[in-house]
Amino acid sequence: MTKWVYDFAEGSRDMRELLGGKGANVAEMTRVLGPERVPAGFTITTEACVAYMRDGAEPGGMEAQVDEALARLEAGASKRLGEPSDPLLVSVRSGARESMPGMLDTVLNLGLNDESVQGLAERTGNERFAWDSYRRFVQMFGNVVRGIHEDRFEDAIDEAKQAKGVRHDTELDTDDLRALTERFKAIFREETGEEFPLEPREQLRQAIRAVFGSWTGERAVAYRRSENIPDDWGTAVNVQRMVFGNKGETSGSGVAFSRDFATGEPGLSGDFLINAQGEDVVSGARSTLDIAQLAEVLPDAHRELTEQVARLERHYRNMQDVEFTIEEGQLFFLQTRDAKRPPAASVRFACDAVDEGLLSVEEALMTFKAGDLEPLLHRQFDAAVPVSELARGVGASPGAAKGEIVFTARAAVEAAAEGRDVILVRPKTRPDDYAGMAAAKGILTREGGHGSHAALVARGKGWPCVIGVEQMRVDVENRRATFGETVLEEGTLIGIDGTTGIVTTDDVPLVEPEISEHFERVLVWCDEHRRLGVRANADVGEDARAAVQMGAEGIGLCRTEHTLLSDEHKPKVAAMIMATDDDERRERLAVLLPLQQEVFEDLFAAMGERPVTVRLLDPPLHEFLPDLAELSEEVGRLEERVEVAGIEVTDDAGDLEDELAELRRFLAKVNEIHEENPMLGTRGCRLGILYPEIYEMQVHALMRAVRRVRAGEGAAPHLEIMVPLVDYEQELRLIRELIVRVGDEHGLTAGEDYSIGTMIELPRACFVADRIAEHAEFFSFGTNDLTQTALGFSRDDVESKFVPVYMERRIIDRSPFETIDRPGVGWLVRLAAWVGRERRPDLKLGICGEHGGDPESIDFFHMAGLDYVSCSPFRIPIARVAAAQAAIAHADG
Ligand code: PEP
Ligand code: MG
Repeated sequence: MTKWVYDFAEGSRDMRELLGGKGANVAEMTRVLGPERVPAGFTITTEACVAYMRDGAEPGGMEAQVDEALARLEAGASKRLGEPSDPLLVSVRSGARESMPGMLDTVLNLGLNDESVQGLAERTGNERFAWDSYRRFVQMFGNVVRGIHEDRFEDAIDEAKQAKGVRHDTELDTDDLRALTERFKAIFREETGEEFPLEPREQLRQAIRAVFGSWTGERAVAYRRSENIPDDWGTAVNVQRMVFGNKGETSGSGVAFSRDFATGEPGLSGDFLINAQGEDVVSGARSTLDIAQLAEVLPDAHRELTEQVARLERHYRNMQDVEFTIEEGQLFFLQTRDAKRPPAASVRFACDAVDEGLLSVEEALMTFKAGDLEPLLHRQFDAAVPVSELARGVGASPGAAKGEIVFTARAAVEAAAEGRDVILVRPKTRPDDYAGMAAAKGILTREGGHGSHAALVARGKGWPCVIGVEQMRVDVENRRATFGETVLEEGTLIGIDGTTGIVTTDDVPLVEPEISEHFERVLVWCDEHRRLGVRANADVGEDARAAVQMGAEGIGLCRTEHTLLSDEHKPKVAAMIMATDDDERRERLAVLLPLQQEVFEDLFAAMGERPVTVRLLDPPLHEFLPDLAELSEEVGRLEERVEVAGIEVTDDAGDLEDELAELRRFLAKVNEIHEENPMLGTRGCRLGILYPEIYEMQVHALMRAVRRVRAGEGAAPHLEIMVPLVDYEQELRLIRELIVRVGDEHGLTAGEDYSIGTMIELPRACFVADRIAEHAEFFSFGTNDLTQTALGFSRDDVESKFVPVYMERRIIDRSPFETIDRPGVGWLVRLAAWVGRERRPDLKLGICGEHGGDPESIDFFHMAGLDYVSCSPFRIPIARVAAAQAAIAHADG
């Protein structure tokens, strides 16, 4: 005979498939704490539901088993379901393997009827409560079991309130509630053509059928489709004895945490209410008492609560959050789960749990998510203060900031010089905005994604940044930003949270970060457990020093364009690009060489003997020149002036004409190098092939810097020269030759004094990685460009365009620029790693795209066998934790 029904005392957490998530959890809790501490009950299995769906009727034997389980429940409680004088009441809840919105959820107080409501009133000494429970039961039963629209009942409540001239439900007295219950029963009759079932066993039968039926309800089916949950899982039904915390002064309800819920310090925390139900505690209708006060009013219950919560923590091996009810002095546990807690409490718990011998270090490191620790590293909005949200974009660089709005980089610089805090608001940022970004407390843009300029720069520096705020219109000319109806002028206070993407005009207090002694300890443990190295993406000495502070073991990516794009140096690069022949170009490059050398020297000095990967120039050249449209306009304006001046002020015409000629030359050059798709155009190593003198200059600067630092400091980091955007092995071969030739001139030898490698950031490079490895000592995966080119997704645009819709429609659940697309881009990474190492077994493999700081992606890179990840300095601690967690999670794999 198939067993369709299990008492809670018979199940365990391993029986999720048969008993559903809820049934398995309550069974586990019963097993741990003993049946006397968890309200008794039973679970009808998911298999019974499957059989019911198939046959349209309860499977043979199920009803008899329900009767037997009910009889056991009644015997244990020494009262019968719906007994008039002192009724046993039950809750009926659905519970699939995974919690599933759209299914029948809960019916409470089943067993109430016209007689047992009197018994409940007497037993609780609270007539109003009894009638309120009864009317709620009729309402809930009518709505969730029989599908009567909620409005029918709500309208009746409104009518009752109107008739009495009151505004709140709580102002209805016992007589009103009694009348309302009668009205609800009449609604039930009108809607179903049946009388409301008063017989408790009949109530239970109908409720069980309704739970089964809800599995095939429209919303549940739609949810399963979107989540790929199979239709044949079915749902279990849990029938549990109701306990009441509102039976007088020796009863109560509350929530308790096994440690301090805010700090993680040892000791029970939480709150409770005497003579109240759980709902009263969470609804905030009455102000709760601190759990410590329970020791004064009900000392036995407090002692037992403390002991049992500790027991649950030991069993689940994690900080617990429990719901409890005390019914006439007897303590019952209704639920336990791993406590959600602030990051400071997470690291504190991990340390204490190890010290107390509760957990091993490995287990302790797995009790939190790496990404959840991020707030410990950045300034935050004070969590105690509610924030009203004006808009929400993509949180591109974590941390919170507030200040007056400014719309231009220049305004940001000026305001900062006067000591004012500002937020730079732009349609999107351009390299020109760097100085303004540096001066501002935070950056807010309408366009962009995780890989866009603003995001990259901000993350690298640890500046809060929110991008992709589609509903924001930025009118730079008139100095205002519009969010729907709200218009914000320059100077208005605004706050941004770069973690959540929230934008607010509230003046929210900010809380400073601190790396606590507990966090330090956790990080040391992580370093002992991880296999992946952790490096930083840093372009200048200052960032490198910050990275070392955060625990960087090297630089995985120095983008050499960084310094060349500054306001100061950009015109010098533009002059080099404008050169009319090779000689002139070389002359102008000679100006740039010492600038680059100086930056490299500072970078090397900051890194001691750690390895430093420097990438040769990557961006399309137009980034160094004025914008084509702006330049055309300027030429137009000047042409007009020359025309006018030519007639009236002849003396000036000469200067103007010179200026115009110069601008025209500029325009012609910008036009010449203009490309429709610059990200797929003349950039990366293609520059080095077309203009070898540029790379030569950079390599000279590097070699000189190595020698200088070696001479000065006695030691220099191991230099790794990296070639970007390689497609063909011949590209790398040619540039390798160039590097070696320049190295030789400085008496430095490839393979000894420095190594040569390449970015792998194009799909073709992944396919031919064995050929490329022939010329490379290392690969570093540029997953930003690899994602862009493998998916055909513009890294600067898609996150504020269709990615949100894709997430809503569940085509993807995360932006592929944030978390690596494992089946697609991840497969290319694995392939390149595999074939690259086939050709060169000691090939060093790293990743320096933005995914290098994302915990989920780090887990993948660990599995893919990479040697290190490289990320922005402020993400390094998170990367160290994620790398350790990956190593622990896959220790057997
Ligand atoms: C990349 O493409 O992943 C990368 C690190 O290079 P960049 O972001 O500079 O293109
Ligand atoms: Mg790239």
